[in-house]
Amino acid sequence: MTYTVTLIPGDGIGPEVAFAAKRVIDATGVPIEWEIVEAGGDVMYKYGTPLPEETIESIQRNRVALKGPITTPIGSGFRSVNVQLRQRLHLFANYRPAKSIPGVKTPFENVDLIVVRENTEGLYSGIEHVVVPGVVESLKIITREATERVARFAFEMARRDGRKKITAVHKANIMKLSDGLFLEVCRQVAREYPDIQYEEAIVDATAMRLVLNPHQFDVLLMENLYGDILSDLTAGLIGGLGLAPSGNIGEHYAVFEAVHGSAPDIAGQNVANPTALILSGVLMLRHLGEQEAADRVQRAVEQTIAEGIRTRDLGGTATTSEFTDAVIARVQA
Ligand code: NAD
Repeated sequence: MTYTVTLIPGDGIGPEVAFAAKRVIDATGVPIEWEIVEAGGDVMYKYGTPLPEETIESIQRNRVALKGPITTPIGSGFRSVNVQLRQRLHLFANYRPAKSIPGVKTPFENVDLIVVRENTEGLYSGIEHVVVPGVVESLKIITREATERVARFAFEMARRDGRKKITAVHKANIMKLSDGLFLEVCRQVAREYPDIQYEEAIVDATAMRLVLNPHQFDVLLMENLYGDILSDLTAGLIGGLGLAPSGNIGEHYAVFEAVHGSAPDIAGQNVANPTALILSGVLMLRHLGEQEAADRVQRAVEQTIAEGIRTRDLGGTATTSEFTDAVIARVQA
């Protein structure tokens, strides 16, 4: 059976890392036909929107996509394509594992955390307005329905993957209603999973505890903004954004992408680390049920890095394409 998968190259370093990941996945021999579609500021002139309907329809048709990062203008301009995609396709859970890669020197060894981030609401609902000049209001939306969906996703995933503990991260001491509802729903769902330990932690203390001793956590479950921030922190714990993959998962569709952005500072130089997107491809292969190919790519990436073939962000000198070629050679060995 041949899979058809949507590929969104994105912008900045997006095309460099997206086509690197595609080459590695193709090297596994899993038959994938890629449907390449566009999104982002660069296509505004062509479609009049940064998120063309063709792109949404392609994902709806194929159900699975691999996506490069897309730049979002700061302060003004169009709404984030990434946020729009997650909302339009109801990709309610953002799954962000942070697992140490052997040989990458960091302050902690054997980090193995998963951040599960609510992906459609919170402060990213995009409901903002000027009350009077000099005063603006951004609304934080928390619903029972979205919280229950993401909490259930986290507990089901924990059970499936043999994880022991879920920590719900919040600021319900201050945001008593919104984060209060988030916690109330997490507690209700937790009661249905007595085999998984459940605890709660305040977000600021969690940030400190993560950098003191990440081993005290297992799965971290949180609303949108906290998940955005803390998953960059957990990426830092394993060696940086160049290594952190993610999956945006909904009931019908799944979009896999790196945690990092379009890195305009290094775009077009063939120096970006494609590992994060290659490992997002590993998550995609697992989602498709291609476990053997996923394991092979994972091992190939680990071997390549362990043998000292590394991009600049990890202290090496390999270019994006040299690193990718080295991974492909090990996938095919
Ligand atoms: P960024 O993640 O693009 O970059 C942060 C730092 O990490 C930069 O120094 C960059 O060079 C480095 N970096 C990131 N990825 C790397 C890689 N693969 N290899 C080596 N170094 C890497 O964050 P930013 O600069 O804050 O954001 C740039 C743009 O990306 C913004 O417009 C932002 O909105 C967008 N963004 C998009 C996504 C997405 O598409 N899902 C996610 C985050 C940010």
